[in-house]
Amino acid sequence: MTTPDSTRRAVLLTVDDDPGVSRAVARDLRRRYGERYRVVRAESGESALDALRQMKLRGDLVAVILADYRMPQMNGIEFLEQAMDVYPGARRILLTAYADTGAAIDAINVVDLDHYLLKPWDPPEEKLYPVVDDLLESWLASDHRPVPETKVVGHRWSARSSGVREFLARNQIPYRWYLSDQSEGRRLLDAAGHDGMRLPLVIAPGGEVLVEPSDQDLAAQVGLATTPAEEFYDLVVIGAGPAGLGAAVYGASEGLNTVLVERTATGGQAGQSARIENYLGFPDGVSGAQLTDRARRQATRFGAELLTACEVTGLEVSGPARTVRFADGSSVSAQSVILTTGVAYRLLDVPGLAELTGRGIYYGSALTEAAGCEGQDVYIVGGANSAGQAAVYLSRGAKSVTLLVRGPSLEASMSHYLIQQIAAIPTIRVRTATVVDAAHGDDHLEGLTLRDTANGGTEMVDAQRLFVFIGAAPRTEWLEGVVARDAHGFVLTGPDLAAEGERPPGWEPDRPPYHLETSIPGVFAAGDVRSESAKRVASAVGEGAMAVMLVHRYLEGL
Ligand SMILES: Cc1cc2nc3c(=O)[nH]c(=O)nc-3n(C[C@H](O)[C@H](O)[C@H](O)COP(=O)(O)OP(=O)(O)OC[C@H]3O[C@@H](n4cnc5c(N)ncnc54)[C@H](O)[C@@H]3O)c2cc1C
Repeated sequence: MTTPDSTRRAVLLTVDDDPGVSRAVARDLRRRYGERYRVVRAESGESALDALRQMKLRGDLVAVILADYRMPQMNGIEFLEQAMDVYPGARRILLTAYADTGAAIDAINVVDLDHYLLKPWDPPEEKLYPVVDDLLESWLASDHRPVPETKVVGHRWSARSSGVREFLARNQIPYRWYLSDQSEGRRLLDAAGHDGMRLPLVIAPGGEVLVEPSDQDLAAQVGLATTPAEEFYDLVVIGAGPAGLGAAVYGASEGLNTVLVERTATGGQAGQSARIENYLGFPDGVSGAQLTDRARRQATRFGAELLTACEVTGLEVSGPARTVRFADGSSVSAQSVILTTGVAYRLLDVPGLAELTGRGIYYGSALTEAAGCEGQDVYIVGGANSAGQAAVYLSRGAKSVTLLVRGPSLEASMSHYLIQQIAAIPTIRVRTATVVDAAHGDDHLEGLTLRDTANGGTEMVDAQRLFVFIGAAPRTEWLEGVVARDAHGFVLTGPDLAAEGERPPGWEPDRPPYHLETSIPGVFAAGDVRSESAKRVASAVGEGAMAVMLVHRYLEGL
């Protein structure tokens, strides 16, 4: 006989309204099974059901339930019937004080009873243990794997359910996903006492329940820090993509008291990349998630503090202090700041798209949605590398992938190696000179209107998944009036600030801005958010490191 994971022992639950009998049953069970199983006893059907619901939320396993038949309020059969809704796989034993054939027949019919036992069962070696041994053996042979991780119960087409899964996945928090209209999902909703009208429901490993949580609530629940430990730092880095992670690693490793602040999840755009093929040192490519995980561990190992679900909405200058304000009104100050906020996906503005975003339409690769594409016809808008990578990735499970490209060919916008990869996959189709005119569907995406830009002809196609990759823009509106930006919102640095040899307005130091320094001394920018940057992982990481070197130079001059 195999035994379950010893760190999370499965439960044997016994319920009897007579405290003496209840204790005796528990004692007999503990004597033989106590090392391998946790014996839990209750003295009423209601309290036993409460205990079962708590165990369900915590992801505990229940192997066998022993219920007394004659109990006030709720008899053993009524109890087992409800217990079955919570733990359908647990084996069920009914205990009676004397032969009660009627009860036994009822129990077999109503709760599919596994065994019927007469009390007292002395000696247990002959009358109790052989029965429980048999039931445990059959229970162990069934699928009884524990689910100790976070559980998310949601709806297939709920935008927030999709957002919660994406947040957990991108922060590399293991979770299991349950559809609210399937049996185990319903069981979890019942155990939490919710009717499923507000989804998703998130159940933490300890059994705590969150309904429609914000990213901040989720972060706090799963153990990600959301508030700074100190009031003043040497360096605040804003945005934890490759540039921010690079800056945090170099800042912290070179002795700067560093805090890295991230709105959503570490990794930025790179974290969403299925495979980065051109990053130095990874000849076989590396997934964005892997690179992010390593970088995050490296940054925290050097002592950088990492805040997640923390959006920066303002930057203020007061003498030598640079104060960074968060969306919740709180703030943190530092001697220096590195802006590494990168870029965010540009939104596609056609009728129907906004309403169906998160319900079949996704920006970026939304890796958690890839499993939902199994056997489906998937559409991707975009002709650049990110769209090409997504096409290759999604083609592993999808029935077909159609790449909708506005231009006449892929050559002008996509790397040669990706064009070749795509050409070699028979289920990927490239439709050039094609745009999406409208998205259709009530509660989720059901169809698209496509237009041929060459002849103006339109066509309706059935579609359940659309992924949009039409470029990205910096979201730097919050820097308006504080830091100089170019016409597209990218942050100007170093020589770009002084095109005519002039220093930025209000610039006080008697030196020109350093190479990655913005129009405010001591505030630097690195990576994609910087005007004229290379838009590559390697260059973002490199600029993050270089910005730290310039921070040191700035601090020395104070
Ligand atoms: C799907 C995809 C595949 C790619 N593949 C490759 C590839 O193979 N090779 C390659 O070299 N490049 C690739 N790129 C480009 C590369 O990922 C980017 O150039 C790189 O990630 C830029 O890094 P960054 O740190 O400057 O910005 P980003 O990666 O954009 O990170 C910025 C971070 O800042 C956060 N942030 C933004 N605003 C705020 C705020 N106000 N407060 C707090 N946090 C904020 C964001 O949430 C984000 O996490 C790819 C991009 C995508 C989208």
